[in-house]
Amino acid sequence: MKNIIFIAPPATGKGTLSAMLKDKYNYIHLSTGDLLRSEVESGSDLGQTINEKISVGELVSDEIITELLIKNLEKLTNQNFILDGYPRTTSQAQTLNKIFNDLNISDYIAIYLKIDKEEAKRRALGRITCSGCNKIYHLYTESMKPNQDNICDICGKELVQRSDDNEETFNKRFDTYLEKTAPILEYYQSLSKLVEVEVCNEKEQTLAKIEEILIEE
Ligand code: ADP
Repeated sequence: MKNIIFIAPPATGKGTLSAMLKDKYNYIHLSTGDLLRSEVESGSDLGQTINEKISVGELVSDEIITELLIKNLEKLTNQNFILDGYPRTTSQAQTLNKIFNDLNISDYIAIYLKIDKEEAKRRALGRITCSGCNKIYHLYTESMKPNQDNICDICGKELVQRSDDNEETFNKRFDTYLEKTAPILEYYQSLSKLVEVEVCNEKEQTLAKIEEILIEE
């Protein structure tokens, strides 16, 4: 299977789709959002600096995020991987390109998940995540509700709402996406690595579209 870079507006479902692809095809899933949130939870000084950015919907600095990626590089060499949340700026895309060249990685595609803002907002405002295993649920999507209110089906831990999944921060995250992240679509287009997938209401349908692309490529 090809390695995957997901590029998408906030709350499109990158995390959910990555988990499905991981289960089905044994991908390594590297989510920079999850890495950052565990640094925040650790209570470190770095975690505090990170939280100041995440909580207002801004990006963490390229330096911090790239250092975090480099610490996890072995994950990109052992198994096919999904990069979920990196790159998010043109500078990060250029850094990643250098890393790929150094590691001899050329077998990848950048999948742009297309969604309109109102649907992304609905997804953000209804998302709840397991505080133990990070599994993602949704309060208003029937097929993504937990069996028991507020309890993870898998590990039994409490489900929580992310602090950046409120309307104000979502709006800022969306603007940040348009300003900082959307330009990297052109970058991957110029490398002939970009494919576009319009997300569907049902995650299984979106997954099927992605699988078709992975087979075709
Ligand atoms: P979503 O895609 O749903 O917005 P993520 O979990 O991918 O959520 O990211 C949450 C937040 O973490 C972002 O809004 C941003 O503040 C920070 N973040 C994640 N990845 C990066 C990155 N590559 N560069 C800078 N900040 C990042």
